[in-house]
Amino acid sequence: RQVFDPYRVKRDFPILQQQVHGKPLVWLDNAATTQKPQSVIDRLSHFYEYENSNIHRAAHALAARSTDAYEAAREKVRRFLKAPSVKDIVFVRGATEGINLVAQAWGRRNVREGDEIVVSWLEHHANIVPWQMLCAEKGARLRVAPVDDRGQLILEEYEKLLNPKTRIVAVTQVSNALGTVTPVREITAMAHRHGACVLIDGAQSVSHMPVDVQSIDCDFFIFSGHKVFGPTGIGVVYGKDAVLENMPPWQGGGNMIADVTFEKTIYQGAPERFEAGTGNIADAVGLGAALDYVESIGMEVIARYEHDLLVYATEKMRLVPGLTFIGTAAEKASVLSFVLDGHSTQEVGKALDREGIAVRAGHHCAQPILRRFGLEATVRPSLAFYNTCADVDALVAALLKLQAGRGGF
Ligand code: PMP
Repeated sequence: RQVFDPYRVKRDFPILQQQVHGKPLVWLDNAATTQKPQSVIDRLSHFYEYENSNIHRAAHALAARSTDAYEAAREKVRRFLKAPSVKDIVFVRGATEGINLVAQAWGRRNVREGDEIVVSWLEHHANIVPWQMLCAEKGARLRVAPVDDRGQLILEEYEKLLNPKTRIVAVTQVSNALGTVTPVREITAMAHRHGACVLIDGAQSVSHMPVDVQSIDCDFFIFSGHKVFGPTGIGVVYGKDAVLENMPPWQGGGNMIADVTFEKTIYQGAPERFEAGTGNIADAVGLGAALDYVESIGMEVIARYEHDLLVYATEKMRLVPGLTFIGTAAEKASVLSFVLDGHSTQEVGKALDREGIAVRAGHHCAQPILRRFGLEATVRPSLAFYNTCADVDALVAALLKLQAGRGGF
């Protein structure tokens, strides 16, 4: 078996070759967004240099090229998620838009007064607010599955929330604030036993582990292209055939119709019904190139390497005086949220930036889960497969330097 070499892989990412504040850039803000390999950048240029056209509508050579490239990207997404059909793959702008699409199009038809929607304490605001809006509109109730002190979902408590009024369960596969990996198959099976639909927010999982939507058996699976080494402005909603077929359109316009008269419009089937107007064609094609890139390495290989790197980072960071990890789930991916005695998270973020190290310091758009731990903010380094032990060592050295400067330890 070929040995994975993160140092070689890192050379595929031009942005990672630069210096920041006179120091080599160490990119540890992957949970916010990931960097793009040269192949994705080249694919975008190629599209605009040779293929750019609107899709479907015009019968000429470039329209055929752009349509082929766009539909080939859809097939790459299908393969990546192991979905049964390209009809199940809807392109949207990102995870946020995807969840809003489901909350509005599916939710408006299926949620009624007195119904219940279940989320978890781990959710990103993108998987809370659209459901709150739907609940407010419909007179439905939002219920929240709790986590334990390590940041793990308490399955027994979650199951107690399920009842015949539960319409949908919307849960993240990986927490962007703590890194907790949730048991999505069990969550889905339990919801289905109570007749509820399931949406999995895969924004933080797809770049770190293989995903198989048929094995999870979820009704919807959502992710953003920019978090899996693809461009911004492109994301995906996977929906089961039967679920999408029974879902009304969200936005109206061109592309999503079969026939329009002033009296009546007949809609297309999925996925076109959910892709009104000119979509983000180039970025969908770029996402396809990103998925080709990660698949050329292999998601199993990536998951194994990142697991080892996470263990290495956890052990090294434990040696920093005054550092407390927030979120210590038995199963974690990528994220190393922490607070540091004697420093605000902002100060730590700035001190790391001076060393060329990029991390996020703040609430990570997940205020409820941080407040569950009595915090308003953490420092959040987050790993990707192009990070190395040397990156982790640079982070730890910078944290030790900051603490040494404080004295007293
Ligand atoms: N869900 C999770 C778990 C996330 O981490 C994010 C992005 N931080 C989102 C949803 C929203 O993704 P986007 O901003 O790309 O729409």
